[in-house]
Amino acid sequence: MNLKELKETLAYSCNILAQEGHWDNVLGHVSVRIPNQEKILMKPHGFGFEEIRPNHLIVCDLEGNKIEGPHERHSEIFIHTEIYKARPDVQCVVHSHPPYATAFGSLRQPLRPISHEGSIFYEGLPLFDYTTALIRTSELGKEVAKTLGNCRGILMKNHGSTVVGGAIQEATLYAIFLEKAARIQLLASASGEPSWSSDDEAKIKFEQIYTPHRLSSMWDYFVRRTRRAMKNG
Ligand SMILES: [Zn+2]
Repeated sequence: MNLKELKETLAYSCNILAQEGHWDNVLGHVSVRIPNQEKILMKPHGFGFEEIRPNHLIVCDLEGNKIEGPHERHSEIFIHTEIYKARPDVQCVVHSHPPYATAFGSLRQPLRPISHEGSIFYEGLPLFDYTTALIRTSELGKEVAKTLGNCRGILMKNHGSTVVGGAIQEATLYAIFLEKAARIQLLASASGEPSWSSDDEAKIKFEQIYTPHRLSSMWDYFVRRTRRAMKNG
């Protein structure tokens, strides 16, 4: 993807997240690595996810400095920069405060593969509990990256969630599906004692459902759905 395409895709990610349960006033942010550069493209501070268009996006370096763009950077940029430094495979980071994942994270329970979406995190969804405050320094960002390890995401106790992926599409979809998995587990646990898929079945389901082909169809659907909302807005 060239820079123009990256900007368009990142703006869609923000708008899709707003539609799919991640809206939190002007809070929450998404970034993407600019290929072959030590730089990232990121949503700026001061805007709701649904307001973001390609021209809002800012360029920052991996030390957390803003390099280009008309708007202020988010103070929690260090979640992004330290994950990119620790995980060369990660191309996109989504950090947000979705209500179900935030409520679920406060319970300190492991996420179970109750719905299909839970199977995405069959290899683990660690809980970051080093602090519940904002991640405003590179030291705290390193702690976040340490908790993430090689996983696809983390819950951040009394704060929110952070989900990563090899592309904007993957990280965005998995952030949306994490919120749904947390919602389903909360619903099921509030009503009784839920059952869940075995570890083996969770792995099989993940491989059956979240193929590159299907992720691409799911992303295209979310883009179409969000375009309609963008037109009406
Ligand atoms: Zn936050």
